[in-house]
Amino acid sequence: MDVLVIGAGVVGLTTAISLAEAGLSVTIRTAAPPGQTTSVAAGAVWGLVKAGPPDRVLEWGRTGLETLAKLAAEPGTGVRIAAGREVSRHPLEPYFWTELLTDLRPCGPSELPDGFTDGWHYTAPLATMPVYLGYLRARFERAGGTLEVSGVGSLAGLAGAAPVIVNCSGAAARDLVPDPAVVPVRGQVVIAANPGIEEFLINRDPEPPWIVYMFPHGDTVLLGGTNDEGNRDMDPKDDVAERIMAGCAAIEPRLRGAEILGHRVGLRPVRPQVRLESEPLGDGVLWHNYGHGGVGVSLAWGCAAEITRSVLG
Ligand SMILES: Cc1cc2nc3c(=O)[nH]c(=O)nc-3n(C[C@H](O)[C@H](O)[C@H](O)COP(=O)(O)OP(=O)(O)OC[C@H]3O[C@@H](n4cnc5c(N)ncnc54)[C@H](O)[C@@H]3O)c2cc1C
Repeated sequence: MDVLVIGAGVVGLTTAISLAEAGLSVTIRTAAPPGQTTSVAAGAVWGLVKAGPPDRVLEWGRTGLETLAKLAAEPGTGVRIAAGREVSRHPLEPYFWTELLTDLRPCGPSELPDGFTDGWHYTAPLATMPVYLGYLRARFERAGGTLEVSGVGSLAGLAGAAPVIVNCSGAAARDLVPDPAVVPVRGQVVIAANPGIEEFLINRDPEPPWIVYMFPHGDTVLLGGTNDEGNRDMDPKDDVAERIMAGCAAIEPRLRGAEILGHRVGLRPVRPQVRLESEPLGDGVLWHNYGHGGVGVSLAWGCAAEITRSVLG
């Protein structure tokens, strides 16, 4: 084995694919299979909200945007290019990273939901995470990789297991590293039958811990949600789901009475800056690749490429 990757969320799988497709022998060890990670709860649209450091995030995000756009052209990846809006009841400036989008434009009055006064329209890659994670796992195994479901008790205890170890443990890095800069930020979402919504919508009005959004995925629509700092409870809560349904239906009346098909909860690995760096471990190298907050789907390919370039020297 050349490389041991810890974690099989979107960051671990993508890093493992990048290294395996570069010709290295890669094994993933993960406490839970991909379908039981935070990654499966994501919306998941490309974007770079609240991640740092800004210059590196922009470069990782550019790689992510290009790679996800290519995957959107391939059948079976779970990724497509979707149109959507970010809207507000107040003046809304575009984020700095929207410079990477080619078709960002202000919403016309008819594109704003009732009561909203400002907004932006654009297209971006959108992943249906259960499908996308399945695609990533299959691609990793096609490249010769092996995935083992078994938890790691300590990083120090892995010295000698492989010349290169990559820690992609997400919010669990807080205890595993340990790194108190990582704060789990709980996100609960509802999966409902799609009443015909075609464009995603994100309400950017600050109302912590709530953030109202909807991402259509064919016959279903993912409705959000929460940003609940420090809360690690993985059980979906009925009262939270009711509030999510009410918040989304207030903006999109077609959601009134929509059938609820499921609930997902994830812990965003929020950190002031993504940790992408290496340190010695025994005779080998330990890479850290965690702290992607609410944008790990968007950053994963860029971070993976940087590690692969360094490992290959
Ligand atoms: C509701 C919600 C909506 C989101 N929307 C978006 C979006 O629209 N766009 C976007 O880009 N991002 C979005 N995100 C953020 C994105 O989901 C995360 O940034 C991303 O999933 C982090 O991936 P990860 O692989 O680092 O972590 P995880 O998916 O949490 O994976 C961590 C992995 O490490 C493993 N692990 C942990 N501890 C151990 C151990 N001791 N031993 C072995 N394995 C271990 C776990 O089992 C798991 O496999 C959203 C997140 C949430 C919750």
